[in-house]
Amino acid sequence: MAKRDYYDVLGVNKNATPEELKSAYRKLAVKYHPDKNPDNKSAEDKFKEAGEAYGILSDKSKRENYDNFGHAAFENGSGSQGGFGGFSGADFSDIFEDFFGDFGGGRRSSRSRNSNNRGSDLRYDLTITLEEAYTGKKQNIQFSTSEKCNTCRGNGSKPGSSPDRCTYCGGNGKVRSNQGFFTVQQTCPQCGGNGEEITNPCNDCNGQGNKQVSKKISVTIPKGVDDGTRIRLAGKGEAGTRGGTTGDLYLFININSHEIFKRSDVNLFFEFPISIADAALGVTIEIPTIDGKKAKIKIPDGTQDGKQFRLKGKGMPFMRRGDFGDLYVQVKTEVPVFLNKEQKELLEKFRKIENEKSNPSIKKFFSKVKSFWNS
Ligand SMILES: [Zn+2]
Ligand SMILES: [Zn+2]
Repeated sequence: MAKRDYYDVLGVNKNATPEELKSAYRKLAVKYHPDKNPDNKSAEDKFKEAGEAYGILSDKSKRENYDNFGHAAFENGSGSQGGFGGFSGADFSDIFEDFFGDFGGGRRSSRSRNSNNRGSDLRYDLTITLEEAYTGKKQNIQFSTSEKCNTCRGNGSKPGSSPDRCTYCGGNGKVRSNQGFFTVQQTCPQCGGNGEEITNPCNDCNGQGNKQVSKKISVTIPKGVDDGTRIRLAGKGEAGTRGGTTGDLYLFININSHEIFKRSDVNLFFEFPISIADAALGVTIEIPTIDGKKAKIKIPDGTQDGKQFRLKGKGMPFMRRGDFGDLYVQVKTEVPVFLNKEQKELLEKFRKIENEKSNPSIKKFFSKVKSFWNS
């Protein structure tokens, strides 16, 4: 099947601004997200297609390449020589965060019901390796938080006693005051709005209802997380006060930079140095993959410096999906240094018998120079 035009995929015109692209992509991503369309192959394809189109068009240099060369710009290796230009990466993470937020939206209403007493959200920074992001992992984390006091069951009063009605507001939680022509209603400063006063405070929590504790929980880091991914663990934050809901715990994922692999979204990249003899004659190389295994790439004879090879599916996993990004290996030819006598002699010999056909770029350039000087 022929690939659809990326602009058509997103339903925007060729002059679309980055904001228009983003908003078009967001709409499609939300509509076709696998969470909303379980076991729906065509929705999944549309989701991927939109992601791919946005990945290209949201990146300035990739978009330029696409505008000039169409899909051919991103075929194996070609059109992407000389640096890893097109790979600086679309910023998917903020969009995904946005709409994962949308999906979790049901909680928001319950939060506002008791917003005064809701427990605080907590942040926990977790640093993992790229390999761990690839496989996902379970990890125990320990942090300081507040928990409901067991002695008073969170109400702050000594067992056997109960809070009294607030004397300042009469239990309303609100007080009125006149300011000029207006009557202003305010939260009661004495009881903080809950209408009660603790006259017999619980000894264990000093009437707070909550106690500071050190808590240990096991968290699951899903495979495919990226540097900067935020994971919300609902209800794992600080306890609320007096019936307030518990806050959330946010895991902020940091990923250590890797010795070999560079990551951009779900794709991985590295430069593979080869000798000029291997580049000229061709060679089969063995390369590392992020799963700890090896893969082979056949470098054809006459491979130029900067040529990229793509290994499909050897990148990072998509979060919450079964498939993977790609691995890009870019050939870096190394000009030999510290030549010994024999190597020098051989290269001298090679230089003498080199013919123009072997170096078409050199020939082309010098014919341009010649006509420049002659004109
Ligand atoms: Zn207590
Ligand atoms: Zn009061």
